[in-house]
Amino acid sequence: MTDLRPFIAGLPKAELHVHHVGSASPRIVAELAANHPDSKVPTDPEALADYFTFTDFAHFVEVYLSVVDLIRTPEDVRLLTFEVARDMARQNIRYAELTITPFSSTRRGIDEKAFMAAIEDARVAAERELGVVLRWCFDIPGEAGLEAAEETARLAVDLRPEGLVSFGLGGPEIGVPRPQFKPYFDRAIAAGLRSVPHAGETTGPQTIWDALNDLGAERIGHGTSSVRDPKLLAHLAEHRIPLEVCPTSNIATRAVTDLEQHPVKEMVSAGVLVTVNSDDPPMFGTDLNNEYAVTARLLDLDERGIAGLAKNAVQASFLDPAGKARIVSEIDTYTAEWLSH
Ligand SMILES: [Zn+2]
Repeated sequence: MTDLRPFIAGLPKAELHVHHVGSASPRIVAELAANHPDSKVPTDPEALADYFTFTDFAHFVEVYLSVVDLIRTPEDVRLLTFEVARDMARQNIRYAELTITPFSSTRRGIDEKAFMAAIEDARVAAERELGVVLRWCFDIPGEAGLEAAEETARLAVDLRPEGLVSFGLGGPEIGVPRPQFKPYFDRAIAAGLRSVPHAGETTGPQTIWDALNDLGAERIGHGTSSVRDPKLLAHLAEHRIPLEVCPTSNIATRAVTDLEQHPVKEMVSAGVLVTVNSDDPPMFGTDLNNEYAVTARLLDLDERGIAGLAKNAVQASFLDPAGKARIVSEIDTYTAEWLSH
């Protein structure tokens, strides 16, 4: 069997479901921790590698929160954002919609205007210096309730940074019903933002219906449980509502028991537009290239099939038509050249 990893590594890609703090690699965390010596996060790479070896999901949450605690100043926000783009450039990611939870930072006392300026400065620099085009999805941390929803909607609509394209909802699904967030999504949509809530990762298909009907979802974060409802799958396929599939994340959070059980094949067979994503890559011990390799194996894809997946992500993105056409043509050129050797 051909090793598809070298092809995937060089393939131009777009990523639609990846979290800002959750993308902090050990290298980035070490830099942040060095700026804040009082933090309990180790700074030397070896100790940090141990720290990043998760024993269980509770440990993941603990590490995630300790990284959140390192984002204390606008300079930290700028550094994290630009360095995440550097990790993306190394994987030939050309475009990413990065999910940012501004509430986590503004609640911790970072000035909201300085926060927006920091991410925007990083976005402009990443495009100029690294060739990575970044856009933002501001998401409500669902576990923080309606106060967080109100604050996130206000920040998104009133301070709307230039790179902001969408509005999301993350955090746990159990005990956090989607419909309560309708007024906040209505405001964001009225302001021209696109709706991309997480749904159906740890709960059943009804949560996905709620995301569609109450939150106006245009894409679904995860949508793993959609395969339990044939009517829902047909609806997603008919209305071309893409799923943001993150296979390794689903195993790490135990949304799916093991990779062989992952329902991505059923989604594709039902005609649903599937995109491949990494969610919180260093925290789940993965990156986007690895997610493509995993998905290629699950779907039994060759190079052309993998290029098709990469094009799905471009088509499902909120990039303008000219930007989409440019990346699609890069993908086609790269694939044709690769296959001609
Ligand atoms: Zn996510």
